[in-house]
Amino acid sequence: MFDLAPYNTFGLHVGAKNLVVVKDLASLENFDDERYLILGHGSDVLFTDDFEGTILVNAIRGIEITDDKDYYYIKVGGGEILDDLIVHLLNKSIVGLENLSKIPGTVGAAPVQNVGAYGVEIGDYIEQIDVFNLKTKQIIHLSQSQCEFDYRSSIFKTQRLCHYFISHVHLKIKKSNEFVLSYKELQELDVKDAFAIRNKVIALREAKLPDPRFIGNAGSFFKNPIIDEVKLKAIRKIYPNVPVFTYNDQKNYYKVAAGFLIDKAGLRGVTHGNAGTWEHQALVIVNRGRAKPHEIVALAKYIVAVVKDKFDIYLEPEVRIFGAKGEIQWQDI
Ligand SMILES: Cc1cc2nc3c(=O)[nH]c(=O)nc-3n(C[C@H](O)[C@H](O)[C@H](O)COP(=O)(O)OP(=O)(O)OC[C@H]3O[C@@H](n4cnc5c(N)ncnc54)[C@H](O)[C@@H]3O)c2cc1C
Repeated sequence: MFDLAPYNTFGLHVGAKNLVVVKDLASLENFDDERYLILGHGSDVLFTDDFEGTILVNAIRGIEITDDKDYYYIKVGGGEILDDLIVHLLNKSIVGLENLSKIPGTVGAAPVQNVGAYGVEIGDYIEQIDVFNLKTKQIIHLSQSQCEFDYRSSIFKTQRLCHYFISHVHLKIKKSNEFVLSYKELQELDVKDAFAIRNKVIALREAKLPDPRFIGNAGSFFKNPIIDEVKLKAIRKIYPNVPVFTYNDQKNYYKVAAGFLIDKAGLRGVTHGNAGTWEHQALVIVNRGRAKPHEIVALAKYIVAVVKDKFDIYLEPEVRIFGAKGEIQWQDI
């Protein structure tokens, strides 16, 4: 068994029958294990058990940049680190991804849940994704619209395309791209250049998120729930300052901060066994040292029940959950 502790940022000691580091697609052509799981850096996964199959770790590298009069075109190996890519682009004065600074993980995983932060989502900049179909051994090209990007979602998640190995991501970024400053903290910057935005984003993140190198976690455990106007009004009666964001410009639907709800349910900074919620951001479940998977699951279930009871809102996990035989749905645990 391979110890997966270095391959999941929760730092859980679970095992896998086999593990293959994929540096090129040629190494997948003869791959024939029927049970497998593709991983980048494991910063968005929760293992509930030893995995009875092969972990395929994406390590395909390379960044190629071309341009025309109006756009930069960037082809990136899925195993590149997202934050390294951002720095690489900023050093070449290619701006757009700076709001995503320091989101952990690989470029290949970023489209899966359409990673986003501070008003920007990676899907906004994706032109095409190259996928290796592990069942048919064929390469497929998916356009931006075929990926069906949504809030922390894409076709890879909704259609459970677990046999689609994302090998390369193609970005298309306007040369005249403008900064996204919709967040108050970014509007308040004196100097509005890409590195200033990056530095501010990093400072904001460091103030509220634990560093997985020292405290096991997978970032936001839950998605921010989408609620209608009636529910929002009910919450605002008690908490007029509840943080609310628009949802895809849809009228009458709002994204409400799950961390706020968990906090107001009295669950920020709690410890249950070896699992807990982070003192500075209740949305993050942390491994307090020797947590076992079932302790993380039990705390998460408890949070869902308490928030449902208090606000009549059902929280859903943002992290993907994997058991011995593959992905598990939250409702089935
Ligand atoms: C401290 C912290 C902060 C975070 N902040 C944010 C944030 O601000 N915004 C945000 O959106 N996310 C955030 N996350 C979540 C996480 O960083 C992202 O989801 C990231 O994209 C995961 O990358 P990864 O390489 O670790 O993917 P993994 O966790 O290894 O995989 C995630 C999922 O993608 C699949 N997958 C991975 N690689 C591939 C591939 N090449 N082909 C097909 N499927 C693949 C996996 O099977 C799995 O289902 C945070 C996480 C942490 C720990």
